[in-house]
Parts: sequence; C-alpha cells; structure tokens
Amino acid sequence: MARRRPAIPKRTEKRVYQEAQSQCPFCGESEVATFQIHHIDSDPTNNAIENLILTCASCHSKITAGLIFLQKVMQVKHSLSSNLESTRKRTNTDSTSKKIVISRSNIGGDVANNITKITTSKTIKTTHPPGSIGADLIKKGYIDELIACYFDLRKADASYGRKVGYSYPAFHRNIQKKFGFKTFFMPVSYFDTLVEYLQGRIDCTIQGKNNRSKGYSNYKSWDEYCVRVQRNYKDSHTIS
Ligand SMILES: [Zn+2]
Repeated sequence: MARRRPAIPKRTEKRVYQEAQSQCPFCGESEVATFQIHHIDSDPTNNAIENLILTCASCHSKITAGLIFLQKVMQVKHSLSSNLESTRKRTNTDSTSKKIVISRSNIGGDVANNITKITTSKTIKTTHPPGSIGADLIKKGYIDELIACYFDLRKADASYGRKVGYSYPAFHRNIQKKFGFKTFFMPVSYFDTLVEYLQGRIDCTIQGKNNRSKGYSNYKSWDEYCVRVQRNYKDSHTIS
C-alpha cells in the first residue's frame, strides 16, 4: 500500500526555495522547471522544513540512487539553513563552549604535559560549534536524558534475557553513521529528527513496549521537558 503523501505547505515550500536562493545547491542549476523538493530522511510525510531541500531533477535522482550521499545532503542542508538563519538574526552566539587555556611556559616539565593533556581532552569534549545541538544546553540536556532513558530500558531488557552488550560509544558511533554527524556536533536543525530517532529506539525496547501497552509514556516530550527546565530555572532564581 502506498503511503499518503501530504502536500508541502506553501509557506514551507517558499522557505525551501528562499533557503537555496532558487538554485540547486548541488549543481547550481537555476531552471525553475527542473526544481523538486527532496525529503532528506526519505519519509514523504515529514514536511518539516529541516527535512526538506531544494534540488534539480537530475541531482534528486542522484540522491535517491545514492550517488550523492546522505551525509553530503545533510551538510549542504546545514549550510543552507545556517546561511538563512544568520541573515535573519545574528544572536546565536556560542556561550556554552568552554576553552581552557593554560600557558605551558608558566609550569615546567611533566606537570605541564599532564595539564595540557587533561585540558586538551576537556576542550574537545565541551566545545561544540555554534549552531550544533551540543551548543544548545537545553536541547543537549534533553538528548542526554533520552539516551540515558534508552540505556536504562536496555538494562531492564536484560531481565527478559535480551543481551545488553551495547555501549555508549557504540551507540554514538551508530548515530554518526546514520546522520553523518557526531551526536552533539549535529546541526541543531536535526534536533527533531534525532529526538524522533531516540524516542523510536526507546519505544522499541521490550520494557518500553510494555510501558506503552500499559499506557505509560517512556519519556517526557520535548515540550514537557522545556516546562520542567523553565520551572527549575524559576525556582533557582526566586528571591525569597
Ligand atoms: Zn542539481
């Protein structure tokens, strides 16, 4: 049975054209008659702007044939959407990245070497580029929570005899393979897609399915999470 293909809303379509400045972002073709809109995740029902990209017919068939890789498509989409965003507002500066710089000339010998090593690895871990999911602390927090939830449920699955042999690094490698970006280096425009993917993984665990069959949700929705974050923020900033 063919899936129903909901029409892309006119407003979204207009934005997709604007974003690409009415030319194919892969080959530069500007003949409007050849334009098509590609669903990046191959789900024709997902008409979120983040999932759509303008292409010419020729590049579109290359994408569907796998001659243009998903990773390339996502990179192009990312640069298009960040271009559009930066022309709209230039406010999203990266306030979360922490760079720790220790001058080696201040300290000598092994100590300096050790400190350099530690701080270097810290820098790599905490610096996510502006516009990435990792640079948005609230979004990052939600992703962290979903991943933790997934591993909790996988652990619970062990009691049903399902093997747990699955590590965080393997999980993140898997995400990188699927999306073409490291989890927290992924452009923030893929947040919804990543959330959907993680929620799907959670709901497919044995315990997750059980919970749902009893009417329990396995996780808070993004909206609920935001409400909780806001409430915690208010609580911690209330002057009594
Ligand atoms: Zn093209």
